[in-house]
Amino acid sequence: MVGLGPAGRDWLTPQAMAVLAAADDIVGYAPYVDRLPRNPRQQRHGSDNRAEAQRAEFALDLALRGRRVAVVSSGDPGVFAMASVVLEAAAGDERFADVPVDVVPGITAAQAVASQAGAPLGHDYVVLSLSDRLKPWEVIARRLEAAAAGDFAIAIYNPASASRRQQLADARELLLAHRDPGTPVVVGRAVGTSEQSVTVTTLDGLDPDQVDMQWLINVGSSQTRILRGGTVITPRRYPD
Ligand code: SAH
Repeated sequence: MVGLGPAGRDWLTPQAMAVLAAADDIVGYAPYVDRLPRNPRQQRHGSDNRAEAQRAEFALDLALRGRRVAVVSSGDPGVFAMASVVLEAAAGDERFADVPVDVVPGITAAQAVASQAGAPLGHDYVVLSLSDRLKPWEVIARRLEAAAAGDFAIAIYNPASASRRQQLADARELLLAHRDPGTPVVVGRAVGTSEQSVTVTTLDGLDPDQVDMQWLINVGSSQTRILRGGTVITPRRYPD
């Protein structure tokens, strides 16, 4: 399982590059596979983003036949991505008992977005997906409230999709019940690509109607500040 980082080659680790170059097969969600340069020696298997369990089994079957397979994810493969799916599939079937599986990390979206705004995740923070496709909204709401009450900065993944439009508005309301409306918020979209945009706003100023699936939102804690010039930091020192 190989993490591609948030965008192109500049964000790919040398380790990931070497593993990708050595692969016989590249398996993954089609837009991620398409990010990689073609190599005539390699077979590419792009798929739909829902067929995760089948994709894992397909990759393990190829590996069983002696192929060197790279299952690619954007960002880090262990963060809302394929690593746990493949490891679970490998452990769940005796046939795959001897297939060696390695996880090659990547730069995750929360860090990529944070880096473009300063250091909004400079102290304790929570990583949370707003997608209720794989977990119920009640669980998401409970975790958001706990993170807000605990005064963590919060990195929000999967804030919306074409059909999921309400989650960010609901999340913002939940957070505003615990946090100052002026809390700094960093919105990163398509970071690392030519379409990158990074906006610094506040919880109050965050407009959920504009959200799309390429957003990653870093919400500050009570200590997060916007410095002169718009740089956002969460100080390392917590007040006594
Ligand atoms: N494994 C990935 C996350 C996959 S979930 C990682 O570690 O980054 C998909 C979500 O990641 C998107 O909805 C978005 O919230 C975020 N994301 C992925 N790439 C991004 C990018 N280039 N810019 C901003 N957010 C991104």
